[in-house]
Amino acid sequence: MLALIDSNNFYVSAERVFQPALRGRPGCVLSNNDGCAISRSNEAKEIGIKMGTPYFAMQEQQQLGEIWWRSSNYTLYQDMMRRITGIVRDTFPDQEIYSIDECYCDLSSFAYHDIEKQAILLRSKILQYTGVPVCIGIGATKTLAKIANKIAKKEHASTGVFFMDTQEKIDYSLQETAIEDVWGIGPRYAIKLIKQGFYTALDFVNLPEDYVLKLMTIQGRRTWRELQGERCIPMEYEPPAKEGISTGRSFCKMETELAPIEEALAFYVANTAVKLRNQQCVCSRMFVYLQTSQFAVVHRKYCAEIDLKLLVATAETGKLIKEALAGLRKIYKPGFRYQKVGVELRGLIPDTQVQASLFEAVPDAKELKMQQALKVIDQLNSSYGRDMVRYGTMGFSKSWAMRQEFLSKRYTTRIEDVIKVKAY
Ligand SMILES: [Mg+2]
Repeated sequence: MLALIDSNNFYVSAERVFQPALRGRPGCVLSNNDGCAISRSNEAKEIGIKMGTPYFAMQEQQQLGEIWWRSSNYTLYQDMMRRITGIVRDTFPDQEIYSIDECYCDLSSFAYHDIEKQAILLRSKILQYTGVPVCIGIGATKTLAKIANKIAKKEHASTGVFFMDTQEKIDYSLQETAIEDVWGIGPRYAIKLIKQGFYTALDFVNLPEDYVLKLMTIQGRRTWRELQGERCIPMEYEPPAKEGISTGRSFCKMETELAPIEEALAFYVANTAVKLRNQQCVCSRMFVYLQTSQFAVVHRKYCAEIDLKLLVATAETGKLIKEALAGLRKIYKPGFRYQKVGVELRGLIPDTQVQASLFEAVPDAKELKMQQALKVIDQLNSSYGRDMVRYGTMGFSKSWAMRQEFLSKRYTTRIEDVIKVKAY
């Protein structure tokens, strides 16, 4: 059996843990740049706030005090996720962290006495320790566990657990699941199936295998087999290895001039370089990209990227910024409304293995001084706030920066944001 542990309205729930006044009221968390709703409370769902409802469409309700919202606070959500998955591991150790609010656990390697009871206890422990409500769905495969989780949310709110252990429960759950809600069936195939009169997961599972294969290729057959209880999607314990370290964000508005784009890029390079140094690595390549909105209708679209090879692998912010800006100037074209710039540092190697270039002398006194200076700068920035000491190219206005007007505090990761409790 496999369990899927999924937090309910995760971002909203994480906000509510530290701001109890938000409980029981309609509310949502907004996407990057405060664009639209990406996580909604149940109360918000009830008053018709949809996934992706734009921020401006809710403004009137907010002014009337009918709804609250927050900018997305990934620092907080990531830390809450770390806490939740840690508690889960104590009960079910075979764990795959699937996304920021979901993890799968393989229960087959242990003989659990009463899986359902264990899951109910685990769920209340998570709620007690973190304040975040989760639901647990248990089924024979990942696809079935996903369906079980939805049933748990819908029909077993009090225990938060649904254990799909009998054929009767499986058939009932499949009957209750619309075809478009089955994990692995994209909207295109869902439409195809509906057109042919197959509306639920049960209709789908009752189709002959050959028919599914012909209609939907191997991917579709995989989902069909998973719904039959045959494990086709394995557990993935190791997160896929990252090729590089990247940062890129949308601007708060479209940018046309080179100067603000340069500033933003310098900022991202500086931030990724810190991560690089924290890993005791250097990079030998850098990938810079620049793009207009892919949804641009009125204006022309443009998307460019450049792969830069460094003469000598480095983690020095100044050198990386210089290279990145030179690359940016090559791909920048005037006359476009740009939405996003970003950088990825690639070809990471431990900083002890740097190969000197033929044309550059081995680190001289100046270079060693610079490395010491960077250490001090990193320390200052980590104690007094990011970018306290910065390169001139990064500018000061941050006029391009992502909008995060309604950001809550970093309650769990910054000492000055920790809630003070008074004792008398
Ligand atoms: Mg969720």
